[in-house]
Amino acid sequence: MAKVLYNEPSPLETLVISRNFRKEGSETLDGYLANDGYKAFLKAKEMTPEAIIEEVKTSALRGRGGAGFPTGLKWSFVPRTSPKPKYIVINADESEPGTCKDRLLMEYDPHQLIEGIIIAGLAMDAHKGYLYIRGEYRFIIEHMNRAIEEAYKRGYLGKNICGTGFDFDLYTHSGAGAYECGEETALLDSLEGKRGIPRMKPPFPAVAGAWACPTLLNNVETFATIPAIIRDGGAAYAALGVPKSGGTRLLCISGHVNKPGVYEVPLGYPMMKAINDIAGGMRGGRKLKAVVPGGSSCPILRADECDVPMDYDSIAKIGSMMGSGGMVVLDETTDMVKFALRIMRFYAHESCGWCIPCREGTTWLRKILQRFDDGGGRKDDVRVLGEVSKNMLGRTFCALGDAAAMPTISIVEKFSEDFDKRLAMQGSGLVTING
Ligand code: SF4
Repeated sequence: MAKVLYNEPSPLETLVISRNFRKEGSETLDGYLANDGYKAFLKAKEMTPEAIIEEVKTSALRGRGGAGFPTGLKWSFVPRTSPKPKYIVINADESEPGTCKDRLLMEYDPHQLIEGIIIAGLAMDAHKGYLYIRGEYRFIIEHMNRAIEEAYKRGYLGKNICGTGFDFDLYTHSGAGAYECGEETALLDSLEGKRGIPRMKPPFPAVAGAWACPTLLNNVETFATIPAIIRDGGAAYAALGVPKSGGTRLLCISGHVNKPGVYEVPLGYPMMKAINDIAGGMRGGRKLKAVVPGGSSCPILRADECDVPMDYDSIAKIGSMMGSGGMVVLDETTDMVKFALRIMRFYAHESCGWCIPCREGTTWLRKILQRFDDGGGRKDDVRVLGEVSKNMLGRTFCALGDAAAMPTISIVEKFSEDFDKRLAMQGSGLVTING
């Protein structure tokens, strides 16, 4: 049976971590070995841990989970010589709305991820890893378990990997459906069998992570990139992108485009080219209205802001973020009141409820937006939505509060005409409560 693919490739992509996705058998160990699989691990075994970390620093790789922290620097924070056990934890709790790339990395090239994890184990002198996968990805958990079993049977996991004397055990762990467990310390609590709520920082996981031991915690895409960095060299990888944002990343383009899909592009790729040339342009020839550049937590961009290179610093300069790579493209027919409500329903539902600005703030924002959408909007609501959001910003215990506030602030500030339009319709009697 022909391989079922998630979307047609674009000739404009730069394939590094997705280079095997469309090859027959890419999900098997033999398929991976036929494409230079595990050669990077053997190369890394000949390097010192310091040299591996240096190579990652040279690559200018930044964490692909959302925060974009320089990966090599994060790796250098783990006290490798600590007498405590060290752990590698892989964040596969992919829950950011608009994001679906880690799933593909695990589905189409699981051994690339496993190789990245054991190279990290070498660099950290760690011998155990935990792959924390969101519970809704049940079939991916089974898929990864099969790949891990295959790796154990053929000597790529377990004792004396490839005869090198290095031991590493890897386990999968299922999440239970909480978005909050994508936050690294909530994930660690959940992994330890506790309720998944964030921990006070510092100490950071690098020093006191899983079971209070030094822990290297990165996203799936970050680990999956490591074999390419070691194989081809950090400098070659960095050169694909732009200064301070090295290499490529997977973009999940969804929304009102002709060819939604997951595409690999170099950092610094122009956003409008990604929309028009890679994703096939706007559906139905409609006009672009807005773009969510990197998952629902990011401030939203107006169409006139989208002529921008997609790298961490360029997007930050215009007040948003690269985030998790979940790019949602919205056309001129999008009602931003409904869009804001849809986002806020999600955050109000996912707030763990521990701190007041987030618990109360998301609930009030959802209620006001719901009333507005139901036709009961008030003239002062736009100001109140902005004020409540700004009072949440920077005042919550973890980033979920900011994640809820930032898109809301950008919507009320940049798309106030959509709220005005609703008020005008109410005034003319065109809208009734729940109508
Ligand atoms: Fe929980 Fe929200 Fe506070 Fe984070 S910000 S700790 S999710 S209530």
